[in-house]
Amino acid sequence: AVPAATQPDIAFYVPATQSSLRRQMELQRELRQALERREFSLHYQPVVTLDDGMVAPRIIGAEALLRWNHPSLGAISPAVFIPIAERLGLIEDIGPWILATGCRQLLEWDKSGLPPLRLAVNLSARQFSDRRLVQMIADAIGRVSLPAHRLEVEMTETAAMQDRAVTRRVFGELRELGITVAIDDFGTGYSTMSHLRDMTFDTMKIDREFVRDVDTSPSGRAICKALIELAHGLDIAVLAEGVESGAEVTVLQSYGCTIFQGFHFGRPVPSEDFARLLPKQALPASL
Ligand code: C2E
Ligand code: MG
Ligand code: MG
Ligand code: MG
Repeated sequence: AVPAATQPDIAFYVPATQSSLRRQMELQRELRQALERREFSLHYQPVVTLDDGMVAPRIIGAEALLRWNHPSLGAISPAVFIPIAERLGLIEDIGPWILATGCRQLLEWDKSGLPPLRLAVNLSARQFSDRRLVQMIADAIGRVSLPAHRLEVEMTETAAMQDRAVTRRVFGELRELGITVAIDDFGTGYSTMSHLRDMTFDTMKIDREFVRDVDTSPSGRAICKALIELAHGLDIAVLAEGVESGAEVTVLQSYGCTIFQGFHFGRPVPSEDFARLLPKQALPASL
């Protein structure tokens, strides 16, 4: 029998659980409707290059970041709803929408005279194990005739290492098409040196966890320095993500990093605001 003294706890516990369960189910129902209710949008964060000799950073691309504008709760973080969307099998519909929207946006920026950018799009683990993924991506760029090299797909290190055979195949097929591949949140997963040796990708994105410490802690410094050297040795591009200060930039630059992303250079913003960050490119006189 349950001791009498614990009964109040149980009495409290049960209703609390039921209401949070109800809330969760409601959220799931709303997530199922979010796409057709047009509650999703993409925000774009600038990716910049800053070489030693350059006076000002130059925007070379953007990362598309999904936003869910919930009717009553407001903006909900993708870190919260992407895992739910994956579990509910909704990513099968949201994934293609993200790609189509991002590709269309790139072409719109092109048309308005902005310099040609590369767009990075995140893929979730579940999308990655979908056999139709490469065809879906090829269709998305084919429909709008976007040159393949304008698209980069991002896969977290953790997801990429889940099934190395699948990863090798998908990376290979994407790169065959001319699409570049980035490993996101690099350093927080579990690739060993032997994984890296037989995995071909184009860009290493050093996780913010290490970037944050690069100007303040000896271990943060050592890890960033080693990762940048590793990328250079493997002949792949290296990008520092989550850069928040000039001090971080200075240290990263001294190690040879030239590509950056983070609040220091620009927050993720809606497409209209992103376009305003870029100077219009003068059109050739012949046009
Ligand atoms: P991520 O791909 O590593 O994206 C970077 C995250 O760091 C973004 O959070 C961005 O807003 C944030 N960030 C960028 N610069 C800074 C900085 O200087 N400081 C700090 N504190 N944060 C910074 P966000 O947009 O909330 O996205 C979180 C994660 O959700 C992403 O991490 C990505 O894994 C996932 N995600 C976002 N959009 C998509 C999507 O379209 N599809 C999929 N599958 N996942 C997505
Ligand atoms: Mg990313
Ligand atoms: Mg990341
Ligand atoms: Mg710092």
